[in-house]
Amino acid sequence: MRVARIETFMVPPRWLFVRVETDSGLAGWGEATCEGRSETVRTAVDQLSELLLGRDPLRIEDNWQLLTKGSFYRGGPILASAVSGLDQALWDIAGKHFDTPVHQLLGGHVRERIRMYGWVGGDDPGEIADAVSAQVEAGLTAVKMNASGRMGPIATTAELDAVVGRVAAAREVLGGSRDVAVDFHGRFSAANVRRVVPLLEPYRPFFLEEPVLPENPHLLRSVTSATSIPIATGERLYSRQEFLPVLQAGIAVAQPDLSHAGGISEVRRIASLAEVYDVQLAPHCPLGPLALAACLQVGFATPNFLIQEQSIGIHYNQGAEVLDYVVDKTPLKFVDGSIERLTGAGLGIEVDEQAVRSADKHGHAWRGPLWRHDDGSFAEW
Ligand SMILES: [Mg+2]
Repeated sequence: MRVARIETFMVPPRWLFVRVETDSGLAGWGEATCEGRSETVRTAVDQLSELLLGRDPLRIEDNWQLLTKGSFYRGGPILASAVSGLDQALWDIAGKHFDTPVHQLLGGHVRERIRMYGWVGGDDPGEIADAVSAQVEAGLTAVKMNASGRMGPIATTAELDAVVGRVAAAREVLGGSRDVAVDFHGRFSAANVRRVVPLLEPYRPFFLEEPVLPENPHLLRSVTSATSIPIATGERLYSRQEFLPVLQAGIAVAQPDLSHAGGISEVRRIASLAEVYDVQLAPHCPLGPLALAACLQVGFATPNFLIQEQSIGIHYNQGAEVLDYVVDKTPLKFVDGSIERLTGAGLGIEVDEQAVRSADKHGHAWRGPLWRHDDGSFAEW
């Protein structure tokens, strides 16, 4: 069996799917979405295809080595996302070839279901309460929210109170047996983090995410050592090597993205590395159905797996939904806030190829918001 054809599909709301076809007719799917950079990643997949065409798709590790190291200049979000989509597709092919789910190829399942969390939006505590209630009614036992919107470098008292008020509102609805995680999204200065984190301790967040920008891992130790709240990060890290310093800095939750951090192959290794630091895995995934299925396959086979993000119904999925591109939606159905073990071959979902091909004709041009402070200077989104 040889790789015969590689195609990419840019589909709304903001995703990039990869399809790898073999000369035996078997095809695998992956997701190389890098939000806001789809056109660039598509070109990277095209160029990497030169290395993969004609090769044995079942030699996943050798192909991964070639794709990641086959050029003097390597790494970073664009190339790693391109490799991720191709890697997922190769695992999908392998699973279909051996007629077994990917997690079986990773050593078999270590759990029967995976706990999921949902996003809650809204800008004031009242809206937060309603959004959390909706997720609880849908059966979820955990939610995640942004700590704030745009944030000045030294927050005002009102800004600080707003952050605390939102988390308090979520906790009140959730009670003591459900969880709320809080995403700082790299929006907070180190000074703001120092001030806000102690104020959130009484509400016992599940974890605090991205308290510092990924380019500043040297600041993480001061955060982790100053609080009992578990600290999470990793959606903008792209390899084991980039995870090492944040693990050493004392994070509690590693959040590699299956579509950014080298795919199933590398995230599996990041999980093993995290285990050495007693750190749990919670893959980042505000993405499409293929990225989600890849996360779940890793989760079913990974002992130190914690919880899974997903974006079904999220506010910025405009124009298409996670389940729009799968034929049978039942494998991704929530049961008591969890997804039961996927039993289908490969990634365990069947892509609606016709829907994908027709969506790609329109494509998308998704871009992240650009924010400014009141004085006109750039603000982190
Ligand atoms: Mg995040």
